[in-house]
Amino acid sequence: MSRACPHLVLAPSLAALLFPSLLAGAAPPPEPPHRVVLVSFDGAGGAEYERQRDALSPDGFRRAEREGLSAVHFQPVTPSLTAVVHSSISTGALPQATGIVSNSYWPAGGPLKARANGFEAEPAVETLWEALARQGRRVASLSWPGVSGRTPRTTTPVGFRWVDLRAPGYLWSGPGAVGAFPDAALALPLEVTSWSPPRLVRVEPSPGQASDSARPLDFVLIDSRDDGRREYDALAALDAEGGLVGRLRPGDWLALPERGDGIAHRGRWVKLLKLSPDASSVSLYVGGLGQTEAWPEDFQRTLDERCGFWPGPPDDRLLEGPDPDVKSFLEMSSRFSAFFVAAYEVAERRGDWDVLLAYQPAIDEAAHVFSVPAPGPDGAEPVRVEKAAAALRETWRIADRAAARYLRFLERGGDVVLLSDHGLRPVSRSVYPAELMRRQGWITTDLLAGRSVVRPDSPADVAVTGGCALVVLNRAGDMPGGVLSPEEAAGVLADIAGYFRSLEDGAGIALFETVALQGEAARLGLDHPNLGDLILLAGRGTTLKAGFPRQGSTAPQLLPADIASQHGYGPDPELDGVFFHVGPGVERARIPVVRAIEVAPRVTARMGLSPPGAK
Ligand SMILES: [Zn+2]
Repeated sequence: MSRACPHLVLAPSLAALLFPSLLAGAAPPPEPPHRVVLVSFDGAGGAEYERQRDALSPDGFRRAEREGLSAVHFQPVTPSLTAVVHSSISTGALPQATGIVSNSYWPAGGPLKARANGFEAEPAVETLWEALARQGRRVASLSWPGVSGRTPRTTTPVGFRWVDLRAPGYLWSGPGAVGAFPDAALALPLEVTSWSPPRLVRVEPSPGQASDSARPLDFVLIDSRDDGRREYDALAALDAEGGLVGRLRPGDWLALPERGDGIAHRGRWVKLLKLSPDASSVSLYVGGLGQTEAWPEDFQRTLDERCGFWPGPPDDRLLEGPDPDVKSFLEMSSRFSAFFVAAYEVAERRGDWDVLLAYQPAIDEAAHVFSVPAPGPDGAEPVRVEKAAAALRETWRIADRAAARYLRFLERGGDVVLLSDHGLRPVSRSVYPAELMRRQGWITTDLLAGRSVVRPDSPADVAVTGGCALVVLNRAGDMPGGVLSPEEAAGVLADIAGYFRSLEDGAGIALFETVALQGEAARLGLDHPNLGDLILLAGRGTTLKAGFPRQGSTAPQLLPADIASQHGYGPDPELDGVFFHVGPGVERARIPVVRAIEVAPRVTARMGLSPPGAK
């Protein structure tokens, strides 16, 4: 605390000595330093919030709107992608200053195929957590995008990072080719009784789903009712030693812990989807293998004890096929959201931070798959639209319940800021920029294990995330392995820009709303060398895809979209997010606009500190 602002840490008697007027009542008391909880609800669009508001509880977002300052439009930066917007929220700076210009981008000066991960890269300017550390304060981060804990600059004193699952989830049905489940030739745990001969159900991922860390899971199919009938009704889950982990009836979830390699807990959630009483079939969803990665060690231990292992995001595999399992998907969303709230409550009890950065990904995960265009001649069928709308509504309620829990920090005298990084807009079709460039000869590829891979000596490459594509030319002299002379590069660049500007759909509507050279990208706040040579932002209704379509050169230019909504475009009110700030003395008002880059200075101002970048 040695570098803290002196007036914030003075003992009361010393304050009285130096500022006797404070005690005499001649001046208002100084604003106390406010502790701040800042929560990002990924993908919570402002326009969508207005549509959902009436279905939400009075204790969540509506409480924040009622009791504090809120914005009709919270304007993200361009492109409206999670890593990009969070780095601007965290620094108060535009992408042209942070250098984080997409979720995945070419780091300027690198070879053609080098990529930087926007979630792990260090912004080129000071962050909120660095500004606080400089002033003797501490930030805790609960999976805040940009705090990966991988380097000193992307680490906070307390936190955990977003992690990928160590083995993917999968759907399983048996008995399959063997025809019947074999008798369970093992002694059942004492707590388990079966009134029909128990059967062994050994669950393994199919070869396509396999991963090194996946081990077979053993269950025993049992008949738990003494009713004289041979009717199986439950699965008993056994651990590696044959002990009982728990029982599952159809519709139940069970946490299956696994032995990890360190102090952290590891495990997976399993759901029994179907079980036929005659033991002829069993269907399960086996969740991915998760393990939280937190620091310091005592935070890891408490998190594991109170919150369990990392449950992982809802699995899109549940939504594949003709009969999507929306219910299970939403149950996973709810569990993941509750995990982040429980982690917040653990961190809140620790109390060893001045600003806490929290994250809730549920709305983004749901909005990508559930929002569908209005029914109509070109739209989806009404039943699908209603189902998707119901799922999206339920996800907003999940997020709203989480919001209500964070808002309880107000009762402790703190500030709560709830915001989002972007909204989404519906898409119906997709475009592969790399495939289009390959057809024009600007990208050359090799075939590796049946997959097209861009050659290191290709004239150009393109990095694609969401609705945004960044084109990079392979410039000789400027880049290791570069092939284009300055004159050649100028010609190719003009051709590529002209080509993408000319692309239209059958109705004469441009496929790209923005085609801008690096210098022209200044008006988007994006004039940074990491942008490469050219930025393409897709037009309405269109999402972009990385890589090459399965059909290769025979694929149509426009393909159906495999998601419902997308973001990562330029300024658009539909992509604006939400913003609420509640705290002692914060004005109650709903104002038209707050910008993403205003957040960090607002937080430091509430604490009486200088903002990021103000040394
Ligand atoms: Zn998203």
